[in-house]
Amino acid sequence: MVGKGTMPSSEKPIEDLPAALRDAHPELEAVREAASDPVYLVGGAVRDLLLGQPRADVDLVVEGDAAALAARLGADAVEHERFGTVKVELDGHEVDIAAARTETYDRPGALPAVEPADTVEADLARRDFTINAMAIPLASEAGLIDPHGGREDLDRGLIRVLHPGSFVDDPTRAIRAARYAARFGFSLEPETERLLREANLGAVSVDRQRAELERLAREAAGPLGLAFLSEWGLIEPRDGGIELATRVAKLLSSPPWREVADRADAVLAAALGPVGREAELAVAQPDMPSRAVELAGAHGAIELVLARALGAEWLDRYLEEWQGVRLAIDGDDLIAAGVPQGPAVGRGLAAALRAKLDGETRNRDEELARALAAARET
Ligand code: ATP
Repeated sequence: MVGKGTMPSSEKPIEDLPAALRDAHPELEAVREAASDPVYLVGGAVRDLLLGQPRADVDLVVEGDAAALAARLGADAVEHERFGTVKVELDGHEVDIAAARTETYDRPGALPAVEPADTVEADLARRDFTINAMAIPLASEAGLIDPHGGREDLDRGLIRVLHPGSFVDDPTRAIRAARYAARFGFSLEPETERLLREANLGAVSVDRQRAELERLAREAAGPLGLAFLSEWGLIEPRDGGIELATRVAKLLSSPPWREVADRADAVLAAALGPVGREAELAVAQPDMPSRAVELAGAHGAIELVLARALGAEWLDRYLEEWQGVRLAIDGDDLIAAGVPQGPAVGRGLAAALRAKLDGETRNRDEELARALAAARET
């Protein structure tokens, strides 16, 4: 069930890391030129470079003032955190620049107290997993800074925390572990798995849990990650929830369903609930298009997607054909024909639309005739 692993970097070693970095991220040349303090590529961007998987957005850590560096870059910088983190755009690439910092946790699951740090090593020590705790200096040929053995874990496909208290400090890291395990086909290092199974997601605010779950659910391998979380005892899916989430994710990856609902919301609703009225919609068998429109129209987007994933194939035609059917007439036509303003107009139009959906009218005149007949009924 585990996804296909990435090619370990031992099979395809990157001999010259600084050169690989220059090739992958030419936009960082400007940072090299502007920086007066040491600057490092950090986190996921280092991991992905070593995996040979290109990415657009990168994180940098500066041993100095992030805002000053952004200013020297002449970029339009947006300061977006309390602690000297700035976002700049370089050649169309998003680059996050942060001052090196440490974090300490006063109580499990609380937001950390943040303090400036002098070195990138101190900054790496606050991170979630060894594969995310590496850095590459931008302006020297020194190569990889890897105090926690991240490269070896990357080669072996292992997710490993930096210290035993990691999931106590921040239980959302368990959800992040599921995201990386699913995305890269990696496994938990055994001691990390033991610690993770003891993690208490309940110690974190619902909002923070939800934000990490949404990041997971948005990924292609999201349902697999949710299956891992369930296997690790951290979430309790509804009955058949993981399978349903897998079908929902597939449905939302192509038309006509792609735009219908937010992927994260729909995948999480499928996996975790709450159970809505999708089951009743899924077993309904509308005998006419007008009935199908009436039924589907009474349900929200998520319920529609879930009902389709549960087997209601007629919802494809609802989306592709019936939902878009419009009358050639409107209320003004009825009023011009003598119908008084008020509920009779709506009643007439609704009847005409039903007739059109069911193929009982062929043109504007027939629509008007149906509408007038219905409007005049008492
Ligand atoms: P992606 O590839 O999905 O963008 P990423 O590895 O870049 O993932 P982000 O969530 O953007 O992950 O975070 C950037 C880096 O910040 C991570 O690589 C990790 O080093 C660190 N980080 C993020 N969240 C946490 C956390 N909860 N605890 C510790 N370190 C974290």
